[in-house]
Amino acid sequence: MERTTIAVVGGGPAGMVLALLLARAGVDVTVLEKHGDFLRDFRGDTVHASTLTLLDELGLGPSFAEVPHQIVEKAQLLTRDGVATMADLTRLPGPHKHIAFVPQWDFLDLLADAAKLEKSFTLRMNAEFTGLLRSRGRVTGVRYDSPDGPRELAADLVVAADGRGSLVRQEAGLPTHSFGVPMDVWWFRLPRHEGEPNAGTGRFAAGTAMVLIPRGDYFQCAFLIGKGADRRLRAQGVQAFRDRVGRLIPWLADRMATVESLDDVKLLDVKLDRLRRWHADGVLCIGDAAHAMSPIGGVGINLAVQDAVAAARVIAGPARRGRITPDVLAKVRRRRWFPTVVTQAAQRRIQDSFLRNTLTAEEGEVPDVLPRPLRVMQRFPWLQVVPAYVVGIGLRPEHAPDFARRAPSRIART
Ligand SMILES: Cc1cc2nc3c(=O)[nH]c(=O)nc-3n(C[C@H](O)[C@H](O)[C@H](O)COP(=O)(O)OP(=O)(O)OC[C@H]3O[C@@H](n4cnc5c(N)ncnc54)[C@H](O)[C@@H]3O)c2cc1C
Repeated sequence: MERTTIAVVGGGPAGMVLALLLARAGVDVTVLEKHGDFLRDFRGDTVHASTLTLLDELGLGPSFAEVPHQIVEKAQLLTRDGVATMADLTRLPGPHKHIAFVPQWDFLDLLADAAKLEKSFTLRMNAEFTGLLRSRGRVTGVRYDSPDGPRELAADLVVAADGRGSLVRQEAGLPTHSFGVPMDVWWFRLPRHEGEPNAGTGRFAAGTAMVLIPRGDYFQCAFLIGKGADRRLRAQGVQAFRDRVGRLIPWLADRMATVESLDDVKLLDVKLDRLRRWHADGVLCIGDAAHAMSPIGGVGINLAVQDAVAAARVIAGPARRGRITPDVLAKVRRRRWFPTVVTQAAQRRIQDSFLRNTLTAEEGEVPDVLPRPLRVMQRFPWLQVVPAYVVGIGLRPEHAPDFARRAPSRIART
């Protein structure tokens, strides 16, 4: 049987950041990722201000700067009466006053290239977790399918970083608390022309709501639909969809034909949940596996990365000493509970006080007026730093532990 100290299931933002940091602490770490590469369309492509600072601390700033990316400094809302600013990241403290948009696979490739420089790091692609190994009630490793057939990997600790459908947390029997959500999201792309909004732009009107993220020559578009409405809306056909978008944001009507069919539109089944306990003996959950976030604010990646940093700081020492006890694992949840719970509470408040009514109203029924907090923010623009801080930095930003810090350098890219 193969052996490692920490088996990380899932090579997403949480898993890769954790593995990189632990490898830099000299801890033997193996990442199992079920896909053959990191290429996935319509994933979170945001690298937040706090993650940019983390990359600087890890010495990866120069390498990140070479990855093609766009930056977004503001989030705004289009209304009948004009444009209102919801969040102004230029008011943030610290060196990075924006969110960078980079394809998630480029971000993950960068982390993998940095981690491969450490000899205690192993990345197994096409390695799909299938079950936990146990001995005397304690988790002692994982089973996984590889191209060479089923395998077993013994580990002192298994970290579930396998996302919101986590099989590890299910196998570990950790109870989940799910909250209702009023919406799902349709993701698609539209061409973006010179001079069109360069900020994250939302438009909410009765029955429909949409967010546009500028990505150079295209917009990444999130069209909000009522929870479970996917099948019904698809049955209405692509033209009905094009018409709805055109009514919501008329200047997009001229390019809706580029959505050739509803196959170009991908469903995100929105979930909002969290584990009550993030660990069992020999297992720890982080990122979406511990708490699936609503897409409101686009904070899932930031929380996943910050969980990983906190977990690395807590685990590295005990892992080197071979003493990862449940008490050690409980510290990770204690550290990350506050930002998780408060951010989810804010998301629930927004969805319940605003989105639910918007999405259940008949099209054209309710005039689109700015919600009160946004009206106040237009009168006192300095308040726009509050949502900017929650989204761009987060409620408890984590910094690289000393063992992971490096001087800035360009790493060799594979
Ligand atoms: C369409 C979409 C758009 C989003 N947009 C944003 C955004 O703009 N901003 C933002 O912050 N967040 C966004 N999110 C959320 C964000 O992507 C997640 O919160 C974040 O990626 C969580 O990171 P993670 O590492 O915990 O999990 P994930 O990114 O889900 O990574 C889990 C990894 O585990 C692997 N895996 C799963 N099961 C197994 C298994 N059995 N064996 C081995 N490997 C396995 C998966 O292949 C994946 O690589 C979006 C999500 C979606 C789906």
